[in-house]
Amino acid sequence: MAIRFKEEDALKSVKGVGEKMADRFANLGIFTVGDLLRHAPIRYDDWSSPQPIARMRPGDDAVFRGTIEKIFGRRMFRRGVSMTEAKVRDKSGSISLIWFNQPYIKYGFSEGDEIVGSGKVSMGKRGFFIINPSYEKIDEKTVFSIIPVYRRTKGLSSKGIWNVVKKVLQSVEPMTEFIPKKVLLSENLPDINMSLKSIHMPNDMTEANGAKRRAAFENLFLIRLGGIIQKKRLMDMKSPVIESDIEFAKKLIESLPFSLTFAQKRSLWEIMQDMGSGHPMSRLLQGDVGSGKTVVAAIAAMEAARQGFQTAIMAPTEILAKQHYLTIRSLFGELEYPIAFISGKETIVFYGDGLESSVKRKTIAEDIRKSKIKIIIGTQALISSSKTAPDFGSLGLVVIDEQHRFGVGQRGHIIKKSGLKNSIPHFLSMSATPIPRTIAISMFGDLSVSKIDELPKERKTVVTRVISPDKREKAYEFIRNEVRKSRQVFIVCPRIGGEEREIVSTSGEIAKQEAKTVEEEYKRLSREVFPDLKIAMLHGKMKSEDKRTVMDDFRSGRSDILVSTSVIEVGIDIPNATIMMVENADRFGLAQLYQFKGRVGRGQYESYCFLFSESASPEAITRLKAVALAKNGFELAEKDLLLRGPGSFLGEEQTGNPDLTMIALKDRSIIEGTRRAAEEVIQNGIGFEEYSPLMAKIEEVQKNFHLE
Ligand code: ADP
Ligand code: MG
Repeated sequence: MAIRFKEEDALKSVKGVGEKMADRFANLGIFTVGDLLRHAPIRYDDWSSPQPIARMRPGDDAVFRGTIEKIFGRRMFRRGVSMTEAKVRDKSGSISLIWFNQPYIKYGFSEGDEIVGSGKVSMGKRGFFIINPSYEKIDEKTVFSIIPVYRRTKGLSSKGIWNVVKKVLQSVEPMTEFIPKKVLLSENLPDINMSLKSIHMPNDMTEANGAKRRAAFENLFLIRLGGIIQKKRLMDMKSPVIESDIEFAKKLIESLPFSLTFAQKRSLWEIMQDMGSGHPMSRLLQGDVGSGKTVVAAIAAMEAARQGFQTAIMAPTEILAKQHYLTIRSLFGELEYPIAFISGKETIVFYGDGLESSVKRKTIAEDIRKSKIKIIIGTQALISSSKTAPDFGSLGLVVIDEQHRFGVGQRGHIIKKSGLKNSIPHFLSMSATPIPRTIAISMFGDLSVSKIDELPKERKTVVTRVISPDKREKAYEFIRNEVRKSRQVFIVCPRIGGEEREIVSTSGEIAKQEAKTVEEEYKRLSREVFPDLKIAMLHGKMKSEDKRTVMDDFRSGRSDILVSTSVIEVGIDIPNATIMMVENADRFGLAQLYQFKGRVGRGQYESYCFLFSESASPEAITRLKAVALAKNGFELAEKDLLLRGPGSFLGEEQTGNPDLTMIALKDRSIIEGTRRAAEEVIQNGIGFEEYSPLMAKIEEVQKNFHLE
């Protein structure tokens, strides 16, 4: 008897999937049979209706069908790369098919054979060509079906994925339906087993679209309902009542060297309302880089401290955590509340008596446990499950910077270590990534949101320009001038360097697809362009000690230009830096570019953001210009949503199957449908017997809801 697969079986248990192939699937986030079946195709090619070759245009996802006129293999000059090229002709014309590193293809065909297939058409010097097309040799058995096209990964073609999918579909146990019947009916969705079959092996496009719609619906429905349930759960829990002491808050605000913006005050008020409610706050504080989120969080922390509660503040990196420590110490260090900074290397406590001491980890741990230290600043290590994470005495508030929300796991760890009895801390997350309204409502329903949508008045606007390749020299001249005035410069590149290059053929010739790397730009700028200036380099693969040294040097003005990857994206505050130059800007999301731009203009000097692009595509230029024109990040986020879809805001891990979440978030009928369905479930009561598969599924999704 044939083996029946269960959803949770490892992919390795499928015959023909070995260690190596399983690893490749793992690169796509596919580990189990169920993961594979839920891996939806990115599109379908209808091989039953090929396009005449003469009518193909560059950029088309075309289906071809023709006769092989010539097929041959060769090795390229670049080490290790082999190439197979076939010339295919139909009645209208001919096109080249090119495959890299699949030398065996040549042996499967002879001249005169018929072939059908699909791929993206490119234009080269000697005509049109398609790189790595999917294909099949035509013989009497060939059925011209609708072919799913999957996102590929190294060593795993779309066709390879489909072959395994087909094998699994033949012998998988039927899955349990978890979407309530009534919802399936009213939203006109196919049931789970029908849709899994049709998404991978549709009989026609209507079937394929129906299945895709169900998958998209399902994704958003689970996230949305999960959010609502999570919120309800939180509202049933207790948290310390931290009342807003208005007089105290006023004093704090008056002691600041600047006046808070209206949006900052409003956000603070919303946070204080939550903290006084007796139930856990679950709030997202959104605001552009430099809008002053940290100060708002710090005032909330002071209020907590005054009422005897501790606050943990976490940043994504040690550099940023240190910066928060320095900011908060300088603003509120005169108060009597000890502030600690904890990193892998350093442990410092500022005891509020004007003295800062490096203290033994053990002493700090003791003081935290006894609730003597009120503000504890560090990275996420503060709330990890590890033994070195501190036990708190009375943790009332947890703030996490540059993250949209707390992960379920993070919450779990911290609740255990908070030192509170029968209650849990308040949670505040802060993010400079503005989330468009539709996304916020659908995906972040469990969070309340405060927006800081204005910048401090004295903040300079950053002059932003899209720079074409011929203006590069001019831009360098400009940079030199700024450095002469003792200002500093960031240069951001999309890649670190040392990785394999992408290879693109222009009809038989191999060309490099250039994206600037930090390592090469660093070398080139230091040797050729600015040999007289001090240039430093920063990227994520460096040791954290080296990173710290580089940042300290830049901060204190010991280097003029910092060439880096997007690691400098979040939170770094260097008022003396006046130029942000982004290489291959078209490779970044708008929201990300906007954050880069926010790295400068933080001091009293006129500042500039130069977006370099080699791309000649009008859409790319329009996108980049939007960064220059945007009044705030929120406006830009809505634009990015239209131009690129939700993927630019939500990391892939965040959303599970990003393509499907994108479809869902672009489709009003799905957004509306999931809202209706979620409401109905809540109204009937989630304890309803029929909902138990649904609840189990939601639990599973939330467990896998990765951190950003
Ligand atoms: P964010 O975290 O939102 O990027 P920060 O809180 O780090 O911004 O604030 C950036 C800088 O602006 C800090 O040096 C902070 O002290 C300062 N700042 C905050 N609020 C104001 C304000 N209302 N007016 C002037 N400067 C402010
Ligand atoms: Mg910040």
